[in-house]
Amino acid sequence: MKAIRVHQFGGPEVLRLEELPVPRPAAGQVRVRVHAIGVNPVDTYLRGGANPSLTLPFTPGLDAAGVVEEVGPSTAGFGIGMRVYVGGCLTGAYAEQLVARAAQVYRLPDQTSFAQGASLHVPYATAHRALFHRAQARAGESLLVHGASGGVGLAAIQFARAAGLLVIGTAGTPRGRELALEAGAHHVLDHTSPGYLGSLGQLTAGRGVDILLEMLANVNLGNDLPTLARGGRVIVIGSRGKVELTPRDLMTREADIRGMSLFNAGEEELRSIHAAIHAGLENQTLRPIIAREMPLAEAAQAHTLILQPGAQGKIILTA
Ligand code: NAP
Repeated sequence: MKAIRVHQFGGPEVLRLEELPVPRPAAGQVRVRVHAIGVNPVDTYLRGGANPSLTLPFTPGLDAAGVVEEVGPSTAGFGIGMRVYVGGCLTGAYAEQLVARAAQVYRLPDQTSFAQGASLHVPYATAHRALFHRAQARAGESLLVHGASGGVGLAAIQFARAAGLLVIGTAGTPRGRELALEAGAHHVLDHTSPGYLGSLGQLTAGRGVDILLEMLANVNLGNDLPTLARGGRVIVIGSRGKVELTPRDLMTREADIRGMSLFNAGEEELRSIHAAIHAGLENQTLRPIIAREMPLAEAAQAHTLILQPGAQGKIILTA
């Protein structure tokens, strides 16, 4: 089978397409013939050496969708040919075939495409966990999705809109803002426009925002805090550096800054999150938006694109 391999940490150029033996599933494992692979920013961090304890060489990738091809012993509930998506796997998702633990494999509803299936784990599970587990969002609250045009942001808008929140999204391009509105945002703002956070008071009837999902905390966190309502919560999902802030902005509002890492979610929690994702796909409140599909061989270009501004949903590799 063809797979992308990383033999040394570095830039996108270290991603190499190679021929590897087809992996075999052991007990409690499933082999999936991969049709679509979701590219996530974390794939670029790991490729670059963010986790030096990763054993080289490795095949990158956490998100993929395809059909079950082989099932190991003691693996109930999976039939050959079943449409599935994975949330993490044992052999790496940037490949024509992968092996995952059965607990990492979820059934893909018939109306959900493979590309959409490959958009579900990291983006949607992150959005769900941030909103409902870390922020404990309730219907009637207001939400700012700070970075709404990418994988996590669009997922958060769809979840929040279905749950009855007032949803405001930001994006840096007209198309990104259009997608945020199509996903269900009530209002959109341009995070490249000076003073854009100034309208939040009016949009929330003078209260400020109850929940803020932050995709780029190193740029925004200091300016986020004064926009919060009393009891407001900022959930830090993404950050690529340091930031300066005024603690007093938290004090007077009795507001919280909370971190969130999907890697901390245990098996039970993930099962619950994916049940919510499945329900949302079935009732069509969740509709993953694909920006672009590219062949597996173009993984290096996909890694360059995902870190550039102008997100429009998910970048997908096809295998
Ligand atoms: P993505 O698809 O590449 O989208 C990136 C988003 O960030 C876009 O909406 C982009 O908007 C926005 N952005 C760019 N500049 C911004 C600014 N100045 N202020 C606010 N937003 C800005 O990435 P993603 O998959 O949605 O992930 C978003 C972030 O969360 C990444 O940093 C990722 O590493 C992180 N993440 C963390 C976890 C976790 O467990 N903590 C899980 C998943 C993702 P424009 O392109 O329209 O400017």
